[in-house]
Amino acid sequence: MLTTYEVRYARQTALPQIGWLGQEKLATASVVIVGCGGLGTVAAELLARAGVGYLYLVDHDIVEVGNLHRQVLFDEHDLGHRKAIAAAKELRAINSEIVVEPVVARLNSSNASTLLAGSDLVLDGTDNDATRYLINEVCVKQDIPWVFAAVDENYGLVMAIVPGQTPCFSCIFGEPLSLPAVPRSNKGLLGTITYMVAAIQVGLAVRLLLGDDEYAGGLLYVDAWDYRMESMPLTRSPGGCGVCGETKTSRRS
Ligand SMILES: [Zn+2]
Repeated sequence: MLTTYEVRYARQTALPQIGWLGQEKLATASVVIVGCGGLGTVAAELLARAGVGYLYLVDHDIVEVGNLHRQVLFDEHDLGHRKAIAAAKELRAINSEIVVEPVVARLNSSNASTLLAGSDLVLDGTDNDATRYLINEVCVKQDIPWVFAAVDENYGLVMAIVPGQTPCFSCIFGEPLSLPAVPRSNKGLLGTITYMVAAIQVGLAVRLLLGDDEYAGGLLYVDAWDYRMESMPLTRSPGGCGVCGETKTSRRS
């Protein structure tokens, strides 16, 4: 007789790219999701359903009614509650076989090294570049792959960063210009673009967790309104940049 575990992942493990060996890798993997907004909630749900064993949700904010048009793990009962805690509760209801830990905090330069340490992967669910530069710096230093994602109005960007192998965030976007960690909450945002970009982000995350980092890489641009997607291949310069230039080895090399 099949176990619940075998039945739950039967369709996923039937994929030759994953199989039961891949499923075991996912079951022992640890992922930190920074931000439980539009991107982070969709990403967290997909990772929980895929059976990623340890999910850490970092967010200090509370659920507001303006979040409900896109933030998939919340409903009206969650209004006024901490996002990380409400999201963790929902994820545990989806999959009780994984560990989900809420971390009610805003990622900053004092806590980032500790909060990201020891994870296999970090997902960017933030809404500001200042936090992305911080994630990049810590992940490069600690040799942790991370997947950048950003959405604005009807378009979004996704890019996987594997220290020592791909260009890092600073290689592509330059050095930070004293950017304040302030979200642009007054701008428009299409609900569908957050789902699309987060789904692509999780697709990259699963490949990296399986140890499959042989994809072409690069920066993907997605437009949910104009029905358009473009991939821009990127190659890491041998010297890297001021942030990743000191990375001499990778645990995947
Ligand atoms: Zn770099």
